Amino acid sequence: MLRFCSLGSGSSGNSTLVEARSGTTTSRVLVDCGFTQRELKVRLTRAGLSTSDIDAIFVTHEHGDHVGCTVALAKRHRIPIWMSRGTWRAVGEPDLPGLLEFARDGDVITVGDLQLRPYTVPHDAQEPLQPCFSDGAFRLGVLTDAGSVTAHLVASLQACDALLLECNHDRDMLAASRYPASLKQRIGGRYGHLSNDTAAQILKACLHGGLRHVMAAHLSRENNRPELALEALATAAGADARDIRAAGPEWGFDWIELR
Ligand SMILES: [Zn+2]
Ligand SMILES: [Zn+2]
Repeated sequence: MLRFCSLGSGSSGNSTLVEARSGTTTSRVLVDCGFTQRELKVRLTRAGLSTSDIDAIFVTHEHGDHVGCTVALAKRHRIPIWMSRGTWRAVGEPDLPGLLEFARDGDVITVGDLQLRPYTVPHDAQEPLQPCFSDGAFRLGVLTDAGSVTAHLVASLQACDALLLECNHDRDMLAASRYPASLKQRIGGRYGHLSNDTAAQILKACLHGGLRHVMAAHLSRENNRPELALEALATAAGADARDIRAAGPEWGFDWIELR
């Protein structure tokens, strides 16, 4: 059984938990943690877990809403931590003896019953990677913090049973926002963040009969509304917007099980 939940998502902090169970063993990976350790503890409690339940941490890139407390958390609780060499450099080459493993595009990382395959995405960070998970039976694809669609990204997200997709902004809302032009350009650019439209385009390219769950993530408070993101994804999937969920900043979403 593969299950996952979002502890929160947005520019104020992102964190996703993925768990695989087989027989008597349980394996859990925390993807990013843009919160303080204290805040993480509160959110983990809500998910029915504690820090001692985390078997490994995967950091997608160095931006504060993702790297957050991950390095301190790994050190304090002796949790193995995976990140790209570029991300490690960008966060100041922290000393993590016996804990740090470098992740590379296409490698398979095994954490107990969970396998994760990182893939490269176009984002304005040193060496950003996003993960695709499998427990051997089910697949979960995660994609936040990408500015555009690439063939590699679409290929990496094929055959997923569940997809967590960034829907950062609505193009019109971003264009009309009070953000300075340079910031608008950064967010809407090739290495920025996914608009609802682009996320819908990716979803369309990854659609197949086995896709059961689609979640919208990393929504901007200023430049998006959950109903716009859900509508865009639902239209792309030919589904009802009520079948798609949006992860919020205070709480993402409760456990979703694939079995
Ligand atoms: Zn982010
Ligand atoms: Zn980012």
